[in-house]
Amino acid sequence: MTLSRSIALALLSLSFTAANAQIQGFTPASSTHEAEVEKKFKSIPSPEEERRQHRIFTQEPHIAGSKRNNELAEYIRDEWKKQGLEDVVIRRYDVYGTNPKSTFLEMTAPTHYQALLRETPIPGDDDSKNPAITSAWLGMSISGEVTAPLVYAHSGNPEDYDLLRKNGISVKGKVVLVRYSNPYSYRGFKALTAQREGAAAILIYSDPQEDGYKKGKVDPDGPWGPEYHIQRGAITYDFMVPGDPLTPGWASVPGAKRIPIEDAVSAPKIMALPLSWHDAKPLLENLGGPAAPADWQGGLGFEYHFGGEQEKVHLKIEMDNGTQPYYVVEGRIRGSELPDEWIVLGNHRDAWVFGGVDPSSGTASMMELTRALGQLKQQGMRPRRTIIVCSWDGEEVGLTGSTEWGEQFADELRSKAVAYINVDEATSGPEFHGQAVASLAPMLEETTRTLDDPSGKSLYDAWKATVAKERENKSSGPFNSGASNSTLADTRIGSGSDHTVFLNFVGMPVIGLGFEGDYGVYHSAYDDFYWMNHFGDPGYRYHTVMSQLWGVTALRLANADLLPFDFAMYASNIRQFVNDLASNNKLVILREVDGSRSEPATQSKDLVSRLDLTDVILDLISVMKTTDAFEAAGKKLNYSVEAKLASGPIDPKLAATLNHGMMQVERNWLNPDGIPGRPWFKHILYGARFTYAHLELPGLTEAVEAKDSPTAKQQAEILQRALEKNTKLLRDLNESLNSK
Ligand SMILES: [Zn+2]
Repeated sequence: MTLSRSIALALLSLSFTAANAQIQGFTPASSTHEAEVEKKFKSIPSPEEERRQHRIFTQEPHIAGSKRNNELAEYIRDEWKKQGLEDVVIRRYDVYGTNPKSTFLEMTAPTHYQALLRETPIPGDDDSKNPAITSAWLGMSISGEVTAPLVYAHSGNPEDYDLLRKNGISVKGKVVLVRYSNPYSYRGFKALTAQREGAAAILIYSDPQEDGYKKGKVDPDGPWGPEYHIQRGAITYDFMVPGDPLTPGWASVPGAKRIPIEDAVSAPKIMALPLSWHDAKPLLENLGGPAAPADWQGGLGFEYHFGGEQEKVHLKIEMDNGTQPYYVVEGRIRGSELPDEWIVLGNHRDAWVFGGVDPSSGTASMMELTRALGQLKQQGMRPRRTIIVCSWDGEEVGLTGSTEWGEQFADELRSKAVAYINVDEATSGPEFHGQAVASLAPMLEETTRTLDDPSGKSLYDAWKATVAKERENKSSGPFNSGASNSTLADTRIGSGSDHTVFLNFVGMPVIGLGFEGDYGVYHSAYDDFYWMNHFGDPGYRYHTVMSQLWGVTALRLANADLLPFDFAMYASNIRQFVNDLASNNKLVILREVDGSRSEPATQSKDLVSRLDLTDVILDLISVMKTTDAFEAAGKKLNYSVEAKLASGPIDPKLAATLNHGMMQVERNWLNPDGIPGRPWFKHILYGARFTYAHLELPGLTEAVEAKDSPTAKQQAEILQRALEKNTKLLRDLNESLNSK
């Protein structure tokens, strides 16, 4: 094809886009067909069915490994078969179990107080009376008993212990009392920090300032956490390696090799217990010693003190750690034309208690999504590629079910998988959040344009408004929005849900979808059906939109003629990651002058002027140059693909070459050795901090932050090589497209 012809076609396709809504990745004829399929699909999910499914999943507590959760696995299997899904199986993983036998806490001095460790029933919410609700406990706590002095350590982050030290207070052998979110950090990071400080145990409580009455009305009058709510959770060190601690990097299929728990890096070595503020208040109120500083104060209405030697607590925790089976349910609709190209969808089933939001809102949305997919198939609208849907188990314990499944099928996924779409909490309120690797951000945005938000706007416009609001108060929230300015999607992807194994271990592009709102009952017994029907999504309209969005996104990936990846967008995102790394660490990006000396690179002029030149200096100019080349190759490919699509049907062989090539790009971001110190995490662009926060260019960033120049140079070279490999790949694809 000549250049002028391809320009003409590109122009044609642009005007076509406006007039006939040509969809990214589709020819005009396929776009028309796809629009019909999507219209049919969107008409199927209903709020009544979402509510009915939600009630089934929130009827009883269903923690990982419990009888009820296993019954729900069988229920999903049977429903999927009825709905028309194919190859429905339940896969079993035998994992290290973590269940409470008994927990006990009392203050013994200066006064006596025995902690309740239970959530009291809420008037009007009959589920809150269910005797199967567990007491306070944290997954992966060790068993033990201790009587020791109590110290208040604020949020339990390293800087908090530094401040205690400055005040002459050691926590060695003592029990530390910390709060959940000020600022937010993953409870497992708090546990590891306390363990490193030599504490005997850690108590983590919910301060009303963060999720209770200081935020607004509490349950049953509002969405915030009441006096007795307990945030359960696991403290697994899954930021080191997720999944079953006894099988790091391989699947816990029955009979698999296992390491001793003492050798497991992700298994905590400390006792840990969560508390409601009802139970934390008498402890805090009776702490003496110096007054804690202003930013350590909370919402309980008295002055918080550090504590000292006089105040003592007695803690006893007995856990049951036998091996237990976790069950992943898997079903699919086999692709009509390309059955060996897979779109994988997943949601976890296990909940700390009822799981009203987390995860049963997502599970209800998944059941409506699969019902709609089954109906399409029965009406002759089978997707071109295979859509696989999974119900994960043990996400709450250590992302366990998805990790074991991903490890079991890693090789097959690396050759067949197009993308993974995760929905954990489908809805806790009306604000849409979409996460995606940057190459899929534009297609996700485009998809939201075709959906109606319950507010009356398009989902795209509603999303845009949410992102604008977030960017305004960017510094105020515990989770800074990572959305870059060129896209609505949050392209800074940390850990904390089931996408982790697919992105960081397998090397699959991922998308994460969820609606959010005020939500103070997370991981407590009050996160239930009542809460959802009064606060989260009373009409189940957001659940319904989630089923539609999740399904339409999957269908676009499944039916596209040429997969809708945008690698130019990926490149500009990577450039932003590198620039952020430089500015956050006062790095100067050097460029060569006359092949001998170096001077600050001019392309980041405004950046350089703000930098302290004396700190760390790293030559990232080759990385920047190759990022530019990758972007140019991505733009050319976008252009050629668009022109090709506009010209009509595509030769299947050519389409296969292009699609397999594009699927390979994400795999090429993997370094088989993993990031330094954490070999399981293989992606060189995405990782997570120990706090669960997103961490871009993880190996390089951690080396720079540690001022470890040799490792930083080595990691920069690995990035450089991956960029070169993907640039060449895109150029080859572009050539194959233009030589036909
Ligand atoms: Zn969840």
